[in-house]
Amino acid sequence: MGHQSLRPLECALRDMLASLTPLDGQEIVPLADSLGRVLASAIISPMAVPPFDNSAMDGYALRAADLQHRSTLTLQGRALAGHPLQDGDACQSGQCVRIMTGAALPAGADCVIMQEETEVNGDEVTFTKPARLGQNVRRRGEDIEEGAEVLPAGLRLTARELPLLASLGIAEVAVRRRPRVALLSTGDELKMVGEPLAHGEIYDSNRYGVRAMLERLGIELLDLGIIPDDPAALRHAFLHASEQADALITSGGVSVGDADYTKQLLEEQGEIGFWKLAIKPGKPFAFGRLGKAWFFGLPGNPVSAMVTFDQLVRPALATLAGETLKAPLRLSATAATALKKAPGRLDFQRGIVENTASGLVVRSTGSQDSGVFSSLSKANCYIVLEQDRGRVEAGETVTVELFGSMLL
Ligand code: AMP
Ligand code: MG
Repeated sequence: MGHQSLRPLECALRDMLASLTPLDGQEIVPLADSLGRVLASAIISPMAVPPFDNSAMDGYALRAADLQHRSTLTLQGRALAGHPLQDGDACQSGQCVRIMTGAALPAGADCVIMQEETEVNGDEVTFTKPARLGQNVRRRGEDIEEGAEVLPAGLRLTARELPLLASLGIAEVAVRRRPRVALLSTGDELKMVGEPLAHGEIYDSNRYGVRAMLERLGIELLDLGIIPDDPAALRHAFLHASEQADALITSGGVSVGDADYTKQLLEEQGEIGFWKLAIKPGKPFAFGRLGKAWFFGLPGNPVSAMVTFDQLVRPALATLAGETLKAPLRLSATAATALKKAPGRLDFQRGIVENTASGLVVRSTGSQDSGVFSSLSKANCYIVLEQDRGRVEAGETVTVELFGSMLL
């Protein structure tokens, strides 16, 4: 078959994403349960952070101008974190206040001198260096101003945002509803782990990879198990999924083998496009509508299933979840060895990238056959080889895409 009939990944992705819109629905969840959820609306800061001027050092708060004509001031009191200087008290000219990191700056004071630059003698503190206005003071609102947009709608919350929200006193967050996704594997040869294998059978491994990735996406799973290559059973499962879920993901049965009923049934029940993608691994892929659910048909070959999920289904589900998509991080690296490649498809070879004295260097994980699991489990990146590119010689520059949180 000529390469002309293969669909470039960017086109497939663009067409697919253009037809998807975020699912309706949101809910309010406690901050502690919001990890991995997608913000339904922007977060506007209800307060300033820090909420008051405070000290960045252990030392003495004072008026900077005072140290222009003298170097010794009288100790007036103490300000500790959580225990500001007594109400009504202030740091007057000629005075200083003992202060600890995080303590509110006393009224009147405008800088903090670190204790290493002082000599203390009873109530008298001598400063060995000049003072600068605002020195060692963290200003109210310096990090976040009240009323500022701190996080945009569509952001998936990570460990980096949760403490920020907590610092603003936000106890509950409005997040998008989780997409409900049905998952099934097709194939008479498949058995669940824990069951013995008869000759000719293999374990359903795709389910575990896809489930793990779905978990990372925070979806609600409807696991429909293994469906044999039997039209009646498949028809029943498809109908069930289309009524119960926002999306159905299948693995296997989208190629042109004799037992690939999926295609036939889907054409009866929905509007599904069967695509031959110009990518390797993962040529066959199906996308479309099955009743009220979206349909994603992954190839059966294990590495193909993982790669097509990561490159196509992940961004699609993220879009349904209301997440604003971010392009994956791609870097340039030097190929440590030659890489086998034929022009015509965009390759996602599996590699190990390392930072060396001469920059990023990447090597292949070995056999790139779409059934070889170790090619994926040993890897920390894809080596993305352009569609038109042929064999890569050692020393050539290649693009690597670091695995996102999905595959880690
Ligand atoms: P298919 O796309 O159904 O023609 O399957 C292609 C290859 O992937 C065959 O070797 C299948 O046995 C294998 N395969 C299909 N589904 C799975 C699965 N869930 N887990 C592991 N291998 C699978
Ligand atoms: Mg099959």
